[in-house]
Amino acid sequence: MSQTDTITAKPSMPRMIDPFGRAVTYLRVSVTDRCDFRCVYCMSEHMTFLPKKDVLSLEELESVCNAFIEKGVRKLRLTGGEPLVRKDIMVLINRLGAKVKSGELDELTLTTNGSQLTKFADDLYAAGVRRINVSVDTLNPEKFSEITRWGRLPQVLEGIEAAKTAGLKVKINAVALKNENEAEIPSMIEWAHGNGHDLTLIETMPMGDIDEDRTDQYLPLSKVRSDLEKQWTLTDLPERTGGPARYVRIEETGGKLGFITPLTHNFCESCNRVRLTCTGQLYMCLGQDDNADLRAAFREGGQAALSEAIDEAIGRKPKGHDFIIDRNHKGPAVGRHMSLTGG
Ligand code: SAM
Ligand code: SF4
Repeated sequence: MSQTDTITAKPSMPRMIDPFGRAVTYLRVSVTDRCDFRCVYCMSEHMTFLPKKDVLSLEELESVCNAFIEKGVRKLRLTGGEPLVRKDIMVLINRLGAKVKSGELDELTLTTNGSQLTKFADDLYAAGVRRINVSVDTLNPEKFSEITRWGRLPQVLEGIEAAKTAGLKVKINAVALKNENEAEIPSMIEWAHGNGHDLTLIETMPMGDIDEDRTDQYLPLSKVRSDLEKQWTLTDLPERTGGPARYVRIEETGGKLGFITPLTHNFCESCNRVRLTCTGQLYMCLGQDDNADLRAAFREGGQAALSEAIDEAIGRKPKGHDFIIDRNHKGPAVGRHMSLTGG
């Protein structure tokens, strides 16, 4: 272990408190809007991606992350688009990982579709990443290709194995989709728990235009839960992450199951997070369009202007979101795609 590994800085006090008294300690960063998949609930098949000049450079992303760390952020999650398709992404991950090693951050983590993990798993571990979320909506290879359009299940499963071998704890995320994976949920839980992975189910959120009707996809997790209760014993866990997830233990499998229910449950009162897009827009709430242009602040006024823009943005973090999916609200509740803010 090097000297820097052993030096632990004092945890910083939360310095970003929003108007509702919530400390913002968690930043999710979308490092690219691009992806090697085209999941049906996330993107349309023919997406137009952003011009390079609009996207923050790796150096700019690092500066913005550092500004948040100085203001009390303790946890960073990189997401996208697909974070591991961003060119030279390990440069940023290594730099941010150094903040974990020095104690300035508690955790650096990633949400990924898993397609590039065989290539990156060892490097991620060496950088200081210890846990990752991998999205897998089905274990049926044909269905997987249908849902992701361009994805191949065996490649993702190999990636998960590589991550496990590298020492990374893997949590599986699955979007619950009516008529797609609904019947398969119990076997996915058995597979995940049998392989030592927790699993979290996510309700579809109405974000961005896609090629399908969202009311056809929407499957309330309250229904999934009551179906599972016919088969298994679900014990509520007190665990809270400051986000929309609620956890249970399934006594029969011994594993943990999470439910992310932004539509059927209100989680906003304990929200501790903000989201940065790859173009430097800071969204104070996943379900609202209000955002702050940190790229303009930083490119025009440097660190000082960036710091001021962050403080101003946190000062207008809203109380909550207003997602609705029903037959009368077919369009997206927020115009941007999930791939821009990264979920
Ligand atoms: N590409 C990576 C992946 O798929 O894990 C990271 C980005 S992806 C936008 C992050 C998570 O958001 C994934 O678990 C994905 O399934 C989920 N997601 C995407 N669009 C969604 C939507 N409209 N509603 C709910 N979850 C969504
Ligand atoms: Fe890509 Fe993730 Fe969106 Fe699927 S959910 S299209 S993998 S960004």
